[in-house]
Amino acid sequence: MARKMLIDGEPELGKAAEEATNFDFDLFIIGAGSGGVRAARFSSNFGAKVGICELPFHPISSETIGGVGGTCVIRGCVPKKILVYGASYGGELQDARNYGWELSEKVDFNWKKLLEKKTDEINRLNGIYKRLLSNSGVKLFEGEGRIVGPNDVEVTQLDGTKLSYSAKHILIATGSRAQRPNIPGQELGITSDEALSLEEFPKRAVILGGGYIAVEFASIWRGMGSTVDLVFRKELPLRGFDDEMRAVVARNLEGRGVNLHPRTNLTQLTKTDDGIKVLTDHGEELIADVVLFATGRAPNSKRLNLEVVGVELDNAGAIKVDDYSRTNIPSIWAVGDVTNRINLTPVALMEASCFAKTVFGGQSCKPDYNDVPFAVFSIPPLSVVGLSEEEAIEQANGDVLVFTSSFNPMKNTISGRQEKTVMKIVVDAATDKVLGASMCGPDAPEIIQGIAVALKCGATKAQFDSTVGIHPSAAEEFVTMRSVTRRVTGTAKPKTNL
Ligand code: FAD
Repeated sequence: MARKMLIDGEPELGKAAEEATNFDFDLFIIGAGSGGVRAARFSSNFGAKVGICELPFHPISSETIGGVGGTCVIRGCVPKKILVYGASYGGELQDARNYGWELSEKVDFNWKKLLEKKTDEINRLNGIYKRLLSNSGVKLFEGEGRIVGPNDVEVTQLDGTKLSYSAKHILIATGSRAQRPNIPGQELGITSDEALSLEEFPKRAVILGGGYIAVEFASIWRGMGSTVDLVFRKELPLRGFDDEMRAVVARNLEGRGVNLHPRTNLTQLTKTDDGIKVLTDHGEELIADVVLFATGRAPNSKRLNLEVVGVELDNAGAIKVDDYSRTNIPSIWAVGDVTNRINLTPVALMEASCFAKTVFGGQSCKPDYNDVPFAVFSIPPLSVVGLSEEEAIEQANGDVLVFTSSFNPMKNTISGRQEKTVMKIVVDAATDKVLGASMCGPDAPEIIQGIAVALKCGATKAQFDSTVGIHPSAAEEFVTMRSVTRRVTGTAKPKTNL
């Protein structure tokens, strides 16, 4: 018997396989990125008949180019992390000398080789994602999808021919796209798409932006030997993160040779014989081989014809959804970056899983945005979970206890690298509950993932303290921070947004 449930007063969702339907599909998905592929597979496993469309493949996206796997696989998390690994060898090779490795003075780096390997890997993953869909019985169409009715989609194929299908439910999972600033000469700059596929290695790079993508590319190119200028509007990069940790990242970037330009914007780009001339609003002039705009992303909602059925958007163009990812049109749903909630792959996956469970699995499932961990893959990386000190102070009813540890990682004692690892735990003084944790140092994302489980379980500081450490490791510091660095009263005004 099909289980029925109530969602916001609507009783009609249940196991699709057991429902009579006159539609071509139970579910048609537009966009086969992280969210789309997850929703397709899970819905199909619950017995739904699923169709999905995706734009033709290319590493650099456009309004008509994409590829199965989406941003994360083709031009986001995966290729970025491959380049971070590549760049990390630069520092590792320097550090290796004091560990007895006799390296000749000059070490060459072959950008083209790494790029080739990266492209091979994303081609492989694109194939795997296609197979995941076909193995789950999902029908894939190559082309641009748009909505033509509350239950109707149209797919325009490469040759211009159009396919039309009806579906009981439509899921929009079209992601987001990098934006460029509106300054003279902006066409000379590139976005992260092109930055991950550059033919020539940029010896001189100017990066505009203070978000995680800007910081990561600064680390990547600097690690490979480029001269890097990072230009951002605030006092520190990584707005929205814990201020103290932002300062640590800035210090590390500088320590590794990135030129920081805080409180600065770019005003003009001009082509010269020597490269791209970049002007800042402080009157500085920089010359670059590459200017990267890491200035935010916008939801891919413009070309979906949403106005025809009246799907509501917010001011940023993101599709408005309820707690279950349903739009104001009952048959149309949306997940991932196009809804601009928390724009991360694991969050798109969570939203898509919940969607499939709710609509086809007979289980009411709301995505849970508490304690979502996050990593910035700078070198060394920053990783955080839960509340920053500023958020904790803002939200706490009483006092907040802050524990910090700044130490020289054991590896650096021999290598001689001057770079501290910094950790922080933020605790609610009244309940002893750990509200947030952050770390900037080697392996931070690997360590914080485990701490995230503890926070999800509602761990107290006493439980952290009673956990036995792993020795010798940096991670053990998280269970040995005994003395309070500071006690902050809940009514104190946080300094935030430096
Ligand atoms: P996407 O994965 O972007 O998929 C949307 C798909 O829809 C695309 O394939 C697109 O081609 C397709 N599409 C769009 N319009 C249409 C249409 N009309 N018809 C058919 N298909 C269409 N997240 C992390 O968690 N960790 C990271 O380290 C990380 N690093 C990142 C680094 C970079 C440089 C970037 C840009 C992003 C990074 N992200 C990271 C974010 C992550 O990639 C996204 O949050 C995630 O991919 C969102 O998934 P999605 O399904 O919403 O969209």
